Amino acid sequence: MKKEISGKTKIIGLIGENIENSLSPFIHNQIIIKYSLDFCYLPFQVAETDLGEAIQGIRALNIRGVNITFPYKKKAIEFLDELEESARRIGAVNTIVNNEGNLTGYNTDVIGFKKSLQYNGKFVIKEKNAVILGAGGAARGVIYTLLEEGIEEISIFNRALEKAERIKQDFSPFFPQSSINIFSFKQDNIKDKIKEANLLVNATSIGMASQIDNTPLPDENSFHPNLLVYDLIYHPAKTLFLKQAERAGAKIINGLPMLVYQGIESFYLWTGLKPEGKEVLEMIKGIA
Ligand code: NDP
Repeated sequence: MKKEISGKTKIIGLIGENIENSLSPFIHNQIIIKYSLDFCYLPFQVAETDLGEAIQGIRALNIRGVNITFPYKKKAIEFLDELEESARRIGAVNTIVNNEGNLTGYNTDVIGFKKSLQYNGKFVIKEKNAVILGAGGAARGVIYTLLEEGIEEISIFNRALEKAERIKQDFSPFFPQSSINIFSFKQDNIKDKIKEANLLVNATSIGMASQIDNTPLPDENSFHPNLLVYDLIYHPAKTLFLKQAERAGAKIINGLPMLVYQGIESFYLWTGLKPEGKEVLEMIKGIA
């Protein structure tokens, strides 16, 4: 069925730097068609220097709201009027809602990550031990979720150590019962930390479609069978990181379920309609 656009159609969309491979326009427009809503979801590829103007344009063009993706989840905040509480604590937004010119930032990655672990990884976070690779906007949401759900220990490895330090400073006061360790990617204790962990997450952009031969963890012997290995990347569906983890006998999960669950929450904020995760995953079967 083709969607008809009229003068009354409300616009929602996606702002990011390289979004040609994003599945969000497909997912959201499938939901719109299925439920016959008068909305249309559009991709907006925006250069970093134009980000402020693009977000101003949400008001000017009366766009109902947008998703914000890589690499603007932190930077977008400076152009907003308000932040929902968890987005403020996390310091990153992936959703903007426009209420009559007032732009509010939300972070639905938190619920997206949590639901993907519950439903697809069947992973209980409480009292577990995790290693997170990366300390960017997505990592902040992932780490916040794990802390909120009572993880015992998190070790963050990042190239720019100051970003990991900032996460520790920002989050520790809210979660004193969990221990947060930070390390530079160059440190060689990464394998030891993974040995003690139940969950390993790639929250770096290493391994995305433009660099499929790359992995954040070149030593294939780092993985073990008692690990749930999660790559936030969903294109390609199986990164080198996940292929190596699978070969080592680890359980793996890619970024698609998180994309779907966070997308459903964003969709609800714009439209008031919340489809089931299972239903949306079914809709996109064969595409992703
Ligand atoms: P950011 O730009 O905020 O962060 C990128 C991260 O990757 C930083 O930790 C950065 O390290 C690291 N990194 C990038 N290149 C290198 C490199 N060559 N060597 C070492 N580290 C590197 O991006 P986001 O956090 O927004 O996104 C990260 C990934 O997560 C992307 O692939 C994105 O598509 C995916 N994502 C998926 C979602 C989903 O729903 N499935 C949701 C959100 C994100 P440094 O700080 O040192 O620069």
